Amino acid sequence: MSPLPVIPVPDPADLAPALDRLRRLVLCETPSYAPEALAAGLALMRAELAADGLAVAPETADLAAAGAVRATYDRGGTLDGPPILILGHLDTVHPVGELAANPWRIEGSRAFGPGILDMKGGIVLALEALRRAEPHLPRPVEVLITTDEEIGSPRSRGLIEARAREAACILVPEPARDNGGLVVGRHAILRFALAATGRPAHAGRDPA
Ligand SMILES: [Zn+2]
Repeated sequence: MSPLPVIPVPDPADLAPALDRLRRLVLCETPSYAPEALAAGLALMRAELAADGLAVAPETADLAAAGAVRATYDRGGTLDGPPILILGHLDTVHPVGELAANPWRIEGSRAFGPGILDMKGGIVLALEALRRAEPHLPRPVEVLITTDEEIGSPRSRGLIEARAREAACILVPEPARDNGGLVVGRHAILRFALAATGRPAHAGRDPA
């Protein structure tokens, strides 16, 4: 096996295009439950991926039903084999309008805005890493961005599983821990249906 390439640490000044991209993604608010906002977010995502030279898959019924965008990079057909899958999500937990309370801004060495940590920043970093690692890529890269992760991926799960089966490995740019530690797993989710019986009353006036 050949030694792993050493990719130089970027000059902070080189990060301007990535910060511009991050600003575009943050200014396009994408709550999980806002279909029109998500459609706008997916259109923006397709444009960003195309700008980086990835081949964006046409918007088939499958992709539309999953609420996802898929793109591949294979250096003009010269890379083959199972791809590295970069799996990200564009949806956030914040409602449309959150930007008024938490606007896009840079303070010192930090950028702020709704969904910037989880995971618009992760998507931008993954694309930046792909750009810098491009000369060293041993195999194609596929990017799959979904829009329902924060609600348990009900629409995109089948697509994720299908694409994952074809991939050599899967990288998910979820935010790191406070200590910079890489996240390699998340707790599962549980859903409950609760039935309650009783008499309606306002807890403020009639707590008993
Ligand atoms: Zn996330």
